[in-house]
Amino acid sequence: MFASVMSAAISGMEVCPVNVEADVSDGLPCFTMVGFPSTQVKEAQDRVRTALRNNGISLPPKRVTVNLAPADLRKEGAGFDLPVAAAVLGASGFLEPKQLNGAMLMGEISLSGEVRSVSGVLPRVIRARELGCRYCMVPFGNLEEARLVRDMKVIGVRNITEMVNFLADPDSFKQEQTGEEGRALEEQTQADFMEICGQESARRAAEIAVSGFHNILFIGPPGTGKTMLARRIPTIMPSLTFEESLELTKIYSVAGLLTPKRPLIRARPFRSPHHTSSAASLAGGGKIPGPGEVTLAHRGVLFLDEMPEFSRRGLEVLRQPLEDKQIQLSRASGTYVFPAGFILVAAMNPCPCGYYPDMNKCRCSPGEVSHYLHKLSQPLLERIDLCADVPPVDFSQISCVKPGESSAVIRERVERVRQIQSKRYEKEPICFNGELSGKQIQKYCVLTEHAFKMAQNAFELMDLSARSYHRILKVSRTIADMEGEEEIHSRHVAEALTYRAFDKKYK
Ligand SMILES: [Zn+2]
Repeated sequence: MFASVMSAAISGMEVCPVNVEADVSDGLPCFTMVGFPSTQVKEAQDRVRTALRNNGISLPPKRVTVNLAPADLRKEGAGFDLPVAAAVLGASGFLEPKQLNGAMLMGEISLSGEVRSVSGVLPRVIRARELGCRYCMVPFGNLEEARLVRDMKVIGVRNITEMVNFLADPDSFKQEQTGEEGRALEEQTQADFMEICGQESARRAAEIAVSGFHNILFIGPPGTGKTMLARRIPTIMPSLTFEESLELTKIYSVAGLLTPKRPLIRARPFRSPHHTSSAASLAGGGKIPGPGEVTLAHRGVLFLDEMPEFSRRGLEVLRQPLEDKQIQLSRASGTYVFPAGFILVAAMNPCPCGYYPDMNKCRCSPGEVSHYLHKLSQPLLERIDLCADVPPVDFSQISCVKPGESSAVIRERVERVRQIQSKRYEKEPICFNGELSGKQIQKYCVLTEHAFKMAQNAFELMDLSARSYHRILKVSRTIADMEGEEEIHSRHVAEALTYRAFDKKYK
């Protein structure tokens, strides 16, 4: 007897449908799996057979063959246990094979027959809807995640018995509720810009960075609040649209980072990998790679604290995402592309001890300072539009009683600037000033005569490179947009020039 059911393999961010076929025939009793399964998938035969036996279903002593088609696609993970069990049950007469038609199944099975959660459920259910499946069967722990897909019937099962009960009589099956429905899904972050005392210029720089999607570097001695500022940047970014939420949730689903309590990603990501992180964990590692930090930070913030401490290889990884908003990973099995459009927020001390240029406190030799700064790769620095000083806070700032502006107030302004940009770049493939390229800069960054003179002077006096000059124009564009000005005036250029601290001090 023969039965088959659909499942899906995840390869990078792609979902490839897989047909799980089972055949039970006379012959020496054995259980074989073919169709390029990885070791983990192959183990399904032992898990499934044992789980069935422990649930009172003993397979007939016959020859069982399971094939995963197409055979040229490598299948990874334990998510094939459930479809394998269903196909085998169908082929050995325990179930009506036609119940499996048009269904997509996924899930891992424990030896006791429990169905365990797996990663990558959301993208698979989305694919099932595209393929026109009748319904999806998923582990109960993934039910809320799978339900995010509208117009798709989803069944969540806890164990093999529930699966068998449903397949035997779908109409009388009662879906248990997860208790997570209707829960306030809005994620509340406690952090708020209000809590930052003083640091007016750094706060302003952060707002400019978010408004125009510019990468930003904070430089200052330890304990001045660089990390505190960075952590609050996602709270002033425009809130996610539902499509963006779904896109992020897909990424987190593939990475296996969703929980039943948090089935949908509602807040912009803030990823802060440690400086000892390997290049693979930043880019995405594995034989079939999964999302790395650059992808998990998509549509949010990637924060590199103590940037000069990161390995050169680690920093090199960032170049492509900063340029293309995506990352390509090449493996023997093919090339995988992951989205990686984030704002890079970096922080660093001005010298190894942290107190340069305060010569009363700094104990570093000029050689040490310059060595420290040269750890940063030039190509990476060229992608950073804003560089803001975060100076030591003096007493009058700490003792301030008046709280700063709240994140909500700042975010409203940011939204307005975003609208100006999306209108201006309607016909361009970009959305933000931070993404302007050479030709577009000429077209969209129109300076008044006075502003042009000022920019020209700065170019000569500060001995700027063409790239630095372009960055100043892009930032000026954003500052002008924040004022609602169509043309860039000299005051906008003047302010943009103040965010070149790195060029000024350390060149
Ligand atoms: Zn020092």
